[in-house]
Amino acid sequence: MLIGPQNLPENLQRVRGRIAAAASQAGRDVSSITLLGASKAQPIAALRAAAALGVRDFGENYLQEALEKIQSLREVGPVWHFIGQVQANKTRVLAEQFDWLHGVDRLRIAERLSAQRPSHLPPLNVCIQVNIGGEASKAGAAPAEVPALAASMAKLPNLALRGLMCLPPAESALDRQRHWFALMRELFAKLNGDGLALDTLSMGMSDDLEAAILEGSTIVRVGTALFGARR
Ligand SMILES: *Cc1c(COP(=O)(O)O)cnc(C)c1O
Repeated sequence: MLIGPQNLPENLQRVRGRIAAAASQAGRDVSSITLLGASKAQPIAALRAAAALGVRDFGENYLQEALEKIQSLREVGPVWHFIGQVQANKTRVLAEQFDWLHGVDRLRIAERLSAQRPSHLPPLNVCIQVNIGGEASKAGAAPAEVPALAASMAKLPNLALRGLMCLPPAESALDRQRHWFALMRELFAKLNGDGLALDTLSMGMSDDLEAAILEGSTIVRVGTALFGARR
């Protein structure tokens, strides 16, 4: 089967079908899962077409590219997520331009974001990125650091700490994919047991969204299966 941008309606229908099937298998309401279009390296026309088909959330990784898209799609008014790693020298523009950041992994960055969030905007929604597989190549807080980081971040006035995000080790078997997502679910449950009120698990991409939904994902970030290969 060919997955390309010209097939966006079919691709979207297929992805929505996968989400619905996994939700049903998990005994979950499909409305508890948000499909985020991971739109990095896709042209603005592809985002516009996806928005016309009902995709409300887009996730971008590269700031300059994202700012152009935000500008061009102003009248469409999607929810903008930054899903790349947040660098200290980019916090001001991120705090000003985005609705959600998924890649926060240090308190110092979170403090800057809270200080720089404009007062006329609602609190910035943030997820803590967790390096769930302990991989040297990946960003994210170590699982053992997350409870203290989350407790401190939850106190920042202009952030809304919503939950956790991960990019797990690449696995092809469903049970191995589920293993990493289950660790995320357990960490999430521990934080809520500690008194936080988190509602978001941002996990699952084109190749593992079923496993993520079976372990409680509330936002799946889907690029290739929706838009085709990146240019
Ligand atoms: C690119 C990207 C995705 C989407 O990946 P696909 O495999 O193309 O679905 C999801 N999350 C993040 C953080 C990404 O960078």
